[in-house]
Amino acid sequence: AKRKGRANYQFYTSEFTAHAVNLLSIEHGLRLALLNNEFILHYQPQIDLKTEKVIGVEALLRWQHPELGLLEPDKFINIAEDTGLIHTIGQWVLYTACLQAKVWHNTGFPKLQMSVNLSGHTLLHDPKLVMHVNQALIDSQLEPHLLKLEITEGILQTAEHSIAVLFELKSLGIGLAIDDFGTGYSCLNSLKRLPIDTLKIDRSFIQDIMRDENDQAIASTIIAMARTLNLKVIAEGVQDAEQLSFLRTQNCNMVQGYIFSQPITAIAIEDYLRNHLLS
Ligand code: C2E
Ligand code: CA
Ligand code: CA
Ligand code: CA
Repeated sequence: AKRKGRANYQFYTSEFTAHAVNLLSIEHGLRLALLNNEFILHYQPQIDLKTEKVIGVEALLRWQHPELGLLEPDKFINIAEDTGLIHTIGQWVLYTACLQAKVWHNTGFPKLQMSVNLSGHTLLHDPKLVMHVNQALIDSQLEPHLLKLEITEGILQTAEHSIAVLFELKSLGIGLAIDDFGTGYSCLNSLKRLPIDTLKIDRSFIQDIMRDENDQAIASTIIAMARTLNLKVIAEGVQDAEQLSFLRTQNCNMVQGYIFSQPITAIAIEDYLRNHLLS
């Protein structure tokens, strides 16, 4: 495969052209993917640390590419954002996740929460966002409090506008979480001003938590701060028992990570849910 790549590469006159052609073909592919239903959602459980029961799932986008196989978001989200296709893709994710959550709600998991990632681009640039979220709730008949949107921390400094949109979203009755928390520069004050209910500690702090005292201090501080601000806190990327017990000593509310499950298909997670039933 590498050989073929080389030969192809030489075909183009410059690295730039190769890059541009690649971008264009991915953009074209993304448009086709929407038409041909090539996107799917995988789900990863979010677990209450006290009871070790599943409280909710996070929907994570995958692209079942006809030639390249199953692609993770790092292969295509940037291009989707640069081309503006992310708004339409995000709308598909939202609808699919809400409909799925409603099905689960009706088939034995009445309290299961559904977390959906919201692109910062959509928050900033899609004037129809609030309408689409509202419509997805109406069409799916999912109770709004069971939907949670995850927004990366980085986007929050950017504009007063995005904060206004967050308040509109909140007024629909849904939950809002800050993703990748700790990697941006939020101060306590700005957090207090936002209509959010959950912080997700970025995976990079959890990864080395048993070896790096700074990471330990950061995680503990975020957890304590969340408590003070009356926010729930989720640690993401938890992979082993030591990390889990450290987080337990800090009274972290929820965890997500490979130690419990990787993101898996809807069918696979139904089995998981049956075995780790919510109260
Ligand atoms: P994220 O929102 O921070 O999602 C968590 C990522 O960490 C997921 O990668 C998940 O598979 C991975 N992960 C979970 N537990 C562990 C663990 O224990 N160890 C390690 N090493 N990784 C773990 P994934 O699915 O590849 O998604 C990457 C990013 O793509 C997401 O990061 C999110 O920013 C974005 N993304 C995913 N789905 C969507 C979507 O529907 N819309 C938008 N706008 N972005 C999405
Ligand atoms: Ca990944
Ligand atoms: Ca997320
Ligand atoms: Ca994250």
